[in-house]
Amino acid sequence: MISTIKGDITGLDFDIIVNAANPHFAPGGGVCGAIFSKAGKELQTFCSKLPSGKAGDVRISPAFDLPCKAIIHAVGPVYSGKECDEEALRSCYWNAVALSYQYMREHELDHLTLAFPCISTGIYGYPHEEACQIALNTIKKIRSAYPDTKAIDIVFVCFEQIDYQLYKEALQTLI
Ligand code: ADP
Repeated sequence: MISTIKGDITGLDFDIIVNAANPHFAPGGGVCGAIFSKAGKELQTFCSKLPSGKAGDVRISPAFDLPCKAIIHAVGPVYSGKECDEEALRSCYWNAVALSYQYMREHELDHLTLAFPCISTGIYGYPHEEACQIALNTIKKIRSAYPDTKAIDIVFVCFEQIDYQLYKEALQTLI
């Protein structure tokens, strides 16, 4: 299932929540700041040992003090209006689902819950509507290329009303 809710991703007791990360996997503002402050100091210690990445890359960490089980840190692109932004944003969603699927297999789960924030649409400036279309099209593509990934329930967690509205409308046409 693919759905959307309005709210704060840090409160969810999902298997995995996704962080809109920076290339150094360091604490930042927005959703990243909220995740690091609620997960506790140990998350920062863990992430400081991860190799830096580029836009589109993902890493996984434990969730420490958060109610979810793990965090996937996806490096969103800083919006510049170039074609590479779209490719990088697509990679965030694709790689996060692929890594979640790997986690599901490793933990011998037959089902997994995964929550995404609207990556790059805050401080990184990606236009909301384009970002929403890219996110949903990428999820659609990976599910059709790898039908086993349909065992992952995906929820888009919108902090802002504008995103919630966009996802609600787009999901009605997607289904
Ligand atoms: P980026 O740097 O990738 O743009 P931001 O955190 O600034 O990351 O914004 C990404 C999205 O996350 C924005 O839509 C913002 O409204 C949203 N956001 C901020 N805080 C939270 C939160 N606690 N839970 C879910 N989404 C959040």
